[in-house]
Formats: sequence, C-alpha cells, structure tokens
Amino acid sequence: MEAQSHHQLNVIFLPFPTPGHFIPMVDTARVFAKHGVSVTIITTPANALTFQKAVDNDITCGYRIRAQVIPFPAAKVGLPDGVENIKDGTSPEILGKIYHGISMLKDQIELLFQDLQPDCIVTDIMYPWTVESAAKLGIPRIFFYSSSYFSNCAANIIRKHRPHESLLSDTHKFTVPGLPQRIEMNPWQLPEWLRNKAIYSGYFESVFDSESKSYGALYNSFHELEIEYEQLHKSIVGIKSWNIGPVSKWVNKDDEQKANRGYKVELTRKEEWLSWLNSKQNESVLYVSFGSLTRVPEAQLIELAHGLEHSGHNFLWVIRKKNDTEMGKSFLQEFEQKMKESKKGYIIWNWAPQLLILDHAAVGGIVTHCGWNSILESVSVGLPMITWPMFEEQFYNEKLLVDVLKIGVPVGAKGNNFWAMGDNTVVGREQIAKAVVQFMGKEESREMRLRARELADASKKSIEKGGSSYLNLMQLLDDLKSLKKTGATKKPN
Ligand code: UDP
Repeated sequence: MEAQSHHQLNVIFLPFPTPGHFIPMVDTARVFAKHGVSVTIITTPANALTFQKAVDNDITCGYRIRAQVIPFPAAKVGLPDGVENIKDGTSPEILGKIYHGISMLKDQIELLFQDLQPDCIVTDIMYPWTVESAAKLGIPRIFFYSSSYFSNCAANIIRKHRPHESLLSDTHKFTVPGLPQRIEMNPWQLPEWLRNKAIYSGYFESVFDSESKSYGALYNSFHELEIEYEQLHKSIVGIKSWNIGPVSKWVNKDDEQKANRGYKVELTRKEEWLSWLNSKQNESVLYVSFGSLTRVPEAQLIELAHGLEHSGHNFLWVIRKKNDTEMGKSFLQEFEQKMKESKKGYIIWNWAPQLLILDHAAVGGIVTHCGWNSILESVSVGLPMITWPMFEEQFYNEKLLVDVLKIGVPVGAKGNNFWAMGDNTVVGREQIAKAVVQFMGKEESREMRLRARELADASKKSIEKGGSSYLNLMQLLDDLKSLKKTGATKKPN
C-alpha cells in the first residue's frame, strides 16, 4: 500500500452501537474509504467483530480503513462480556447499563481524537459532546443522522412550535406547521420526550443543538426521495448537509457482502429459508420485520400470526426472541409447525439476512416498523411497504411513506411506545389481514408498486458516477480537502 500523502484526508467515524445507527455509519465509512479517504472507525470489541470481514475485504482492495478498538467497561457496569450493543438489551435495566457503559467511553474517545489527529470527525447524533471535542481540536464535526430529512424537519418544528400541547386529548389531530405538504398527526404518535418534557428532553435538546453547531450533517438519503425536505432542513437547522445514500447499496454489492452486512446470520438454516423463497412465485411473499430493537409483545404476536394466516398470503416473518410466557412460546411453536405444513409462512428467529431477502424475486413487499434503514433498503429494491411504526421517529417516517411518497399502506398502529410496554396499542387480526389483502392485491397496489420501482431506479442512479449522491460525496470531500489545506474550520454557507 502506498504511503499516506499530506493531501489524503484522515477521517474518524464514531458510530453509536445500535444496528440502525451502526450499520449505515460503517457503510458510510466504507464509502469514504472507497473514495480515497483514510478511515478509522472507533468502537468496542463485540461491535468491531460485526464488520471485521467487510473491512478486511476492503483492505484487500487497497482501501485504507481500520477499526480502533477500545474496551467496553462491561464488568464495571455489571454486564456480561460481549453485551455492548443496544440490541442486546432485554430489559430496561440492562438497557440502562449498556447506555451507562457507552457514556463511560467519552474520555478514552477524546484522547483518541487527540492522538489520531484526524482532519474531521463524523459522529453519531447520540454523541452531542463531540461538537466540543472537534472545536477544541479545530477540526470539523459532521453530524451523522440515520433517519430521514422528513423526520428531522418534523421533530424540529414540533419541538419548537409544540402544536400538540393545545389539544384536549392524545388522539386529537394537529397539522404539522410549515411543511410543504399537509401532514396531520396526533400527540400519541410523538416520541415520549416530546410529549412529556420531563423525560430526557434535556438530552434531546442537546442533540438538536449539537446538529446546528456542527460543520454539516450527513444523511443516508437521496435527492429524489425527499428533496423538499432536504431544502427545508437547511432553512430550519441552518447548516449544510450532504445526502449520500443509499450507502448500503454502494458498498454491499454481492450476496456474500449482503449476507455479512451487520450481524452474524445463523447460516445453518440459510438453505431452508432460501429454498422456501425459491419455491414461491415472484412478488408473492410478504416479508415481516420490526427491525433490530423492537420486541413485539406476546398479545400482539398472537394477533399478527392470526392476521397473516387469515390474509391467505405467503409470508416470511423474522421474530426476535424475548422472555415470553410458556403459553406464548408454545403458541408460536405450534404456529411455526402449522405454517411449515401449509407452506404458507416461514419464521426466521432473531436475525434475518435482510438485504438478501429483500432482493429475492419472490418478495413482493414488507411489513415494516418504519426504521429508516429498512425503508431505504426496501426503496432500493422497489418494494412498497405496509407501515407499522412503533417508537421514536418512526411515525414521521410512516407519514413520509403514506402521505408524501405514496408507497405505503398503514396497518393502523396507534401509539409511540418503545417495546409497547404496558399500553393498549395491540392491532387486531382483522385489521392486519385487511391491510395485507389490500396491499398484496395486484390491482389495488399497481400505482404504488410503479412509484416504488421508479424510486429504486433513482436510488441506483444516485450513487453512480454523476448521480446526486455521488456528486454530494465529491462535494463534501472537496470541502474537507480545502479546509485541510487552509486549516480553517468554519461552517460552509
Ligand atoms: N436488520 C437485519 N436483520 C434483522 C433485523 C434488522 O439485517 O433481522 C438490519 C436492517 O436491514 C437494517 C437495520 O438492521 O439495516 C435496522 O435498522 P432500521 O433503521 O430499519 O431499524 P431499527 O433497528 O433501528 O429500529
């Protein structure tokens, strides 16, 4: 490998350890490396293992990319070794310990920023303090947001104007002011920190504040998907942003890369799910996934199982194991057995090779919790969606899919609630079956499928030479190079 030139950019990426943030940041880091940047990803041991193979391959291709691994204080926070990702949290108590462990890494990370002397740091939204670290070093901090422009605009507007506070009940609607389209929501759909100021709102205020103080923001999106909201973002937040997505498509090209992206897939059953999909007609299977964090409550799992079965359509469902009762466990075991016999449904436990599944010709759509990565991955392959938001910004993303892009059919999810803990938001089997039948019906969904395909074409072009995301990346790298040359860290206009 040639020696590093003074003109080569040296960029540190600091991903937050939850799959929906971590996976797209690692992919972004790999995109940078592919375009001549020397890249360091700071992370902890178990998280580093998830992308080791991808990075090793990149190094073989001659790219400069490596992980800088720092120990996770598992013992200090009372966690077993290897539990260092938000997705490993099986209870609020364990989640709290993981967050605490992550927060303890701050000093070590700041020392690394000093030692490694990067030209720029790209850090996750969840590390607002890195704005000050970058300022101390006189280098730009780029804010990495792993959801849509739309959701960030809506959250900024609602937190500023608080239109939900004047309503009499959580189910009354308000119009989100200042958006290019008329978007109606109700308070129940908002994240808890917006509904109830006492909960974490100070932390989220610091997150938003840190975005506006950053040199710029990186978005995993593309012009054709949400151009109006990209423009609105600039006027609301006041900083430059570059949308360079879909990053996953940029670096995970062949099946091997798609299978190894993110977490380890239990490949022992690969042949089984693949041959099940191979046995199905094109576009006849619904893929059902709620992302990496959601643990669907037992009562909802049961309704969903019945709803899918009653719809009469084929489905491939990924279920994350949780501490269910014996009754719930035996229900799902029997259901799995029944579906095996009827060949109507297939269950993957815990973690599915999502990119490979979405790419398969038999898949005709997805039931999604509206996590941004799952949305982009579906859009990239031209699949429309049944929207079933659960928590955080997912209800905004639903609005983008259903009301703006018109590539989504809502199942009718009601309340914003992480793990749907202790509330009455269960969606009934009839409602689920009805949404699936409407969605999978060829006539009813024709227009939606066409629009989804057009967006897939646009996403493909956006990352080709001369495409919008490609040009944005080039622009960003040029900006960073000229900053390096002049030594000036000022916000671009
Ligand atoms: N994912 C996966 N297999 C799974 C569950 C999730 O590959 O069984 C990936 C998915 O492809 C996406 C990420 O994990 O890249 C989840 O991010 P998303 O924004 O969709 O949702 P979150 O998990 O953050 O709620």
